[in-house]
Amino acid sequence: MITATMQRKLQIPEAMKAWVLGRPGELRLVEKPVPQPGVAEVLVRVGATAVCGTDLEVINHGEPALVQGGMPFDKNFTPGHEYMGTVVKLGPGVDEFAVGERIAVEIHAGCGRCERCREGMYTACLNYGMNYGEHDKGHRANGFTTDGGFAEYAVNHVNTLVRVPDGMGDEEATLVVTAGTAMYGLDVLGGLIAGQSIVVTGPGPIGLMSVGVAKALGAGPVILIGTPRDRRRLDIGLQLGGDEVVTVGEEDAVAAVQRITRGRGVHYVMECSGAPNALNEAACMVNRGGRICLAAFPREPVRVDVARLVRNNIYVFGIRGEGRSATRRAAALMAQKRFPARLIHTHTFPLQQVPTAIRYASERIEDAIKVVVKM
Ligand SMILES: [Zn+2]
Ligand SMILES: [Zn+2]
Repeated sequence: MITATMQRKLQIPEAMKAWVLGRPGELRLVEKPVPQPGVAEVLVRVGATAVCGTDLEVINHGEPALVQGGMPFDKNFTPGHEYMGTVVKLGPGVDEFAVGERIAVEIHAGCGRCERCREGMYTACLNYGMNYGEHDKGHRANGFTTDGGFAEYAVNHVNTLVRVPDGMGDEEATLVVTAGTAMYGLDVLGGLIAGQSIVVTGPGPIGLMSVGVAKALGAGPVILIGTPRDRRRLDIGLQLGGDEVVTVGEEDAVAAVQRITRGRGVHYVMECSGAPNALNEAACMVNRGGRICLAAFPREPVRVDVARLVRNNIYVFGIRGEGRSATRRAAALMAQKRFPARLIHTHTFPLQQVPTAIRYASERIEDAIKVVVKM
């Protein structure tokens, strides 16, 4: 039921504050018209937006954003893709959600008409960025190809909305899409089966959520690998359900995995570090026929021991984002309190301080993990 106070809160102004990308690395706080939802879309009043490593890529280097067929610079484009908020207005024909509902978002709506979208792989939509002028195929990826969440309002396709339960705070709800990415990685690996073993390399937000999701799905052992500077993150990994943590530098990562699994190796590696030799090491951690999912990457091309992959029938997958409705399934695990995702949220800043929030995340100031901007 919507009370009179709620009704007032839901009143929608004409203009809003939004950060826009200027030249590479340059963000400006401007006034923009509040966007209007179209068919199958809703207007979201943004409640909180988490800073992601990919935001730094977009803001400083452009890719993987693609706006009006090119780089996202000087196009009045608003970045930010990991947000949550409240539905405040419905587009024509929308009855899947109601005004006043709290939601978290996934990023990619896809075009809905290409082969990949039809397969549920909308994060690999073949019409990525095709949403303008003569090229309008309806693709949406807020914060990448359409305006994102470092603003007071955003428009979302109903397919990208996930309900947030009452007991879940705004900051935690921004992590739903991160957990969704971890869930999608496990899906792509073939679907984790209870009792199977997994190594997660790199305890960043996606790595830590991978630990939580894998454990919630019954994996065992779950082994998390990081470096000495990741000490706090490795501790959180244990609280999220990790069975063992390994600190590279104190012990060789491959030797540690072989020790923990008594020489058998693991079924899966979820690679979230982007370290140059990570794929080669992962290939020494999985057993024959094992599977590796790459969710991070080094900046430069690297040498790969292909012979080892072939001779041991090792499968290697790359993932982009959070396809196949993985976000909804991850949100269900979070709603059931199967792992304490909120532990990775470390800092909060107001909308006016987006550049500071980004600096905290990128430089890991005060051991920051997930930095959230709260409206
Ligand atoms: Zn992200
Ligand atoms: Zn598509």
